[in-house]
Amino acid sequence: MRFAAVLRNQKKVIKLFQNSLKKNRFVHTYLFEGAKGTSKREAAYYFAALMLCTGVSKPCLECENCHKVMKEIHPSVFYVAPDNGMIKKEQAEALEKEFSMTALTEGKRIYIIDEIDKANASAANSLLKLLEELSGDNYVIMTTENINNVLSTIKSRSQIVSFDRIPVEEVATELINKGIEAETAFVFARESNSASEVLMILQDEKVLPIYELAKKVAVAICNPALHPLLTLINEGDSLVKEPNKRYHQLFVDLLLSVANDKLYYITNQINKIAFRDLMQIISDQVCLKQDKIIKEVETILKFKQRLRYNVNLELFYAQLFIELKQI
Ligand SMILES: [Zn+2]
Repeated sequence: MRFAAVLRNQKKVIKLFQNSLKKNRFVHTYLFEGAKGTSKREAAYYFAALMLCTGVSKPCLECENCHKVMKEIHPSVFYVAPDNGMIKKEQAEALEKEFSMTALTEGKRIYIIDEIDKANASAANSLLKLLEELSGDNYVIMTTENINNVLSTIKSRSQIVSFDRIPVEEVATELINKGIEAETAFVFARESNSASEVLMILQDEKVLPIYELAKKVAVAICNPALHPLLTLINEGDSLVKEPNKRYHQLFVDLLLSVANDKLYYITNQINKIAFRDLMQIISDQVCLKQDKIIKEVETILKFKQRLRYNVNLELFYAQLFIELKQI
């Protein structure tokens, strides 16, 4: 865990922490909200380092506590993230147990819950109970990319801290300078909002094939002579069989990204288009009626929500593409 990106890109957030430190006025529950790649998780660990640091200028990033936080091994920092796309009840209960076991011992404790919007109903209820019991030296930091999906009871108990997006062009330019091809750079800059994170994502050997598949499927969505389901069956067998939801979320996000580009295309906001090469291919085939494209965006969004639950993936894609073809 390094703090370079959060220090560089989220100065407002760092200032908020430093001011709270000066006045010794922290709230117990924070909700960090902002786009993917805006260093919310790093900021949560930075907050933990700030709270636990034994140095003079906090966080010194040199004392034992700071080191342990940065290595993500500090015993007073607890971390929960979605397991295969969802925060489950057992995870919330484990955190609650940890909390009640350590409640009587001295010292500050920081509970970090990543992507709180992905907590299912029973997990959210357990977490709410934990938030209600928070006091003393216990702090909870939750993060989300979709604040609208966070329960209002959770929002109302938290100080909401908004993280700024870095302009896509800035991230893309950094990626192009590091040798990434232009269209890929723009597409993933939009997906992640952080050049270092994109470089990490692209190292995953499953990612570029999913990107190529998404482009082929996008072509089939537009072309009346083709069917995206056939394209998926013929070329995306390994995706359909992929158990890790993360890759399916990426695939659906990319389809959504293409649909958004179509909107940019017909509204003449060419410089905002990420799939630049692809748009040249599909622009003569695409049904460029605004209401149809909006329907396409809505349909993909609706299916994206469904991915959060246990779905049969073959059926999921079949239904998605049938609905998209009917628009
Ligand atoms: Zn320190």
